[in-house]
Amino acid sequence: MTITVRFAPSPTGLLHAGNARTALLNWLFAKKLGGRFLLRIDDTDAARSTKAFEEAIYRDLAWLGLTHDGTDRQINRLAKYSAAFYRLQAAGLVYPCFETEVELDRQRSLLAARKLPPIYNRASLEPANKARWEAEGRMPHWRFKLSRTPVSWTDLVRGPVEIDTATMSDPVLVREDGAFLYTLPSVADDIDMAINFVVRGEDHVTNTAAQIEIFQALGGPVPKFAHFPLLVGAGGEALSKRLGSLSLESLREAGIEPLAVAAYLAKIGTSDPVEPRQSLGELASEFDFAKIGRAPAHFVPEELDALNARTLHAMPYSAVAGRIPQGEAFWDAVKSNLAKLSDAAGMAILVTGPVTPVIEDAGLAEKAAALLPPEPWDEATWGAWTKAVSAETGAKGRGLFHPLRLALTGLEHGPELKKLLPLIGRDKSMARLKGETA
Ligand code: GLU
Repeated sequence: MTITVRFAPSPTGLLHAGNARTALLNWLFAKKLGGRFLLRIDDTDAARSTKAFEEAIYRDLAWLGLTHDGTDRQINRLAKYSAAFYRLQAAGLVYPCFETEVELDRQRSLLAARKLPPIYNRASLEPANKARWEAEGRMPHWRFKLSRTPVSWTDLVRGPVEIDTATMSDPVLVREDGAFLYTLPSVADDIDMAINFVVRGEDHVTNTAAQIEIFQALGGPVPKFAHFPLLVGAGGEALSKRLGSLSLESLREAGIEPLAVAAYLAKIGTSDPVEPRQSLGELASEFDFAKIGRAPAHFVPEELDALNARTLHAMPYSAVAGRIPQGEAFWDAVKSNLAKLSDAAGMAILVTGPVTPVIEDAGLAEKAAALLPPEPWDEATWGAWTKAVSAETGAKGRGLFHPLRLALTGLEHGPELKKLLPLIGRDKSMARLKGETA
């Protein structure tokens, strides 16, 4: 059996850390097992869906590295939803409803006042009501008639789940203006696209009970379900308030590596430690629903920043070659000092100059300049040279290294000098030790 999953975002906003995690967990699961990852654009809400957001979804998934094995838009598939709807209608499982939003709100308030759950009362099923409302010329919306019996499934994250659909309102499938809401198209597509695993956030658990009844009514196989806990902020607060700052676009613009985002989103809320990884393939090989906990996953931007730095420190040159024109030796010299990849550009000047040296100990600098060995230089040069300078001047430890660093780089801190020195080269080193900008 080929595993087929889908990521089904609505193009009504930018992908944020929460959606990206849904996409990622689907992708990792499918790729681990040689399965297929489909991208389905849930754009039946014509008023809120935009082409720009759809394009952003493609761009952001590509940035994260989540390649898809097929894609479609729901707007292309409306005829399929109509066909599914007519099948439910023929089976007597959908019914027209005539209540206005205001009337439904009033009903819900009355139920709330009596401390009853806000379950739709099926008043439109009463022939007298129906006749009256039809006579008024009201246009219906359409609901699915739930069985009002327990629906159960074995969730790959939550274990056995049972939901009595008597505790829910019959879901609206079609709006008064004829537009399909999410529930039915999603099931029709899942059947049609042979989706056998639905992996999504736990905010969909209740939907699943209704959707299982719809899968069964349409005669499609019911997929397996995995509902993972949602992302929350550091203090457990819902992320929705700060979604803007957590869009993939904003993370990209902040210079976070896609691999760090992926490793972070793959590991938070699981029993695995949050650690740098070299590839999505590595994350896929480690993926297991059994590792996902039942508590919400905490998204802490500072942790992501730290993981980003550690990801860079572990990155081989081959992974950044196109972005580091200064070459491999430079990358190896600077990578351990980076928080963001863009910091490397600022460090390039240490090699190319001009650097205005800071001469802290003129006597030491002069002697050190005189002791500079002839080129070619390599990583051993620094050790041999500083040993010679120490022997000549008696300087040791900080008293030796601090003035040399200040003279060679003009900075208090920076990349390892044994790696930097051969890149700076003899001429510039000599000039800087003499106090010249070079
Ligand atoms: N478009 C739905 C959403 O974004 C898809 C949910 C699902 O995965 O079924 O919530």
